[in-house]
Amino acid sequence: MSEQSNKVAIVTGASRGIGAAIAERLGRDGFAVVVNYAGSAAAAEEVVRKIEGAGGKAIAAQADVSDAEAVRRMFDMAETAFGGIDALVNNAGIMQLAKIADADDANFDRQIAINLRGTFNTLREAGKRLRDGGRIVNFSTSVVGLKLEGYGVYAATKAAVETLTAIMTKEMRGRAITVNAVAPGPTATDLFLNGKSHELIERMAKMNPLERLGTPEDIAAAVSFLAGPDGGWINGQTLRANGGMI
Ligand code: NAP
Repeated sequence: MSEQSNKVAIVTGASRGIGAAIAERLGRDGFAVVVNYAGSAAAAEEVVRKIEGAGGKAIAAQADVSDAEAVRRMFDMAETAFGGIDALVNNAGIMQLAKIADADDANFDRQIAINLRGTFNTLREAGKRLRDGGRIVNFSTSVVGLKLEGYGVYAATKAAVETLTAIMTKEMRGRAITVNAVAPGPTATDLFLNGKSHELIERMAKMNPLERLGTPEDIAAAVSFLAGPDGGWINGQTLRANGGMI
């Protein structure tokens, strides 16, 4: 039996991209995994099948993280299916690039709703319902450090997530729950690749000294560390997983 057997993890936005890789990795680590998704039901079911095929336990759970009631229902579903919750990975997120002068209200509201309110909604439930000894891993971005043009609203939502991370760390005092954030650099998923030219992708891939894009599995490995026994002394930190870009 793995070290994490009998532990339960909710991974938000786990139907595709980084979240799917995290769900599969935590499944292999021994967590029973709640594979959250917003709209991609078939993709989420496929992630569940892969985890089960590797000998793990998983269920798919539809919930738009920006909807507090839906998030509550997802936590209920996790407790009903697996008896409790030990880890929350707040991976769900969207990115809509625009210069601040050109960003419309819908752009601002949508990114705030999913990236910031969505993270708040799940943190609020986790703060009440995670079992002692649990782990929370939030998602920021290395652009909070790089401050690239066009990323203003997106990076601002993630800077706010870093602040929630640091403060929630202290609020979990006495319960042995760690709270950290992972801040990826450019990683080969739809979120990064869509709408970019081949040249721009090549240029961004070379920004770090390892001269390649991150893979979803690179990021999943960092989450596995923070969610697993070896990460137990890391608390209140933002870990930039970006090949050394910043
Ligand atoms: P992605 O490939 O676009 O996948 C996004 C995932 O989030 C999908 O599973 C999607 O589910 C889910 N999602 C979107 N809106 C949701 C909502 N309202 N409620 C629940 N789930 C929702 O993105 P990714 O690249 O894997 O990004 C994962 C995280 O890493 C994000 O927080 C992102 O900001 C962060 N990040 C990514 C990069 C990068 O270069 N890729 C860099 C830095 C940080 P559906 O399929 O059901 O819509």
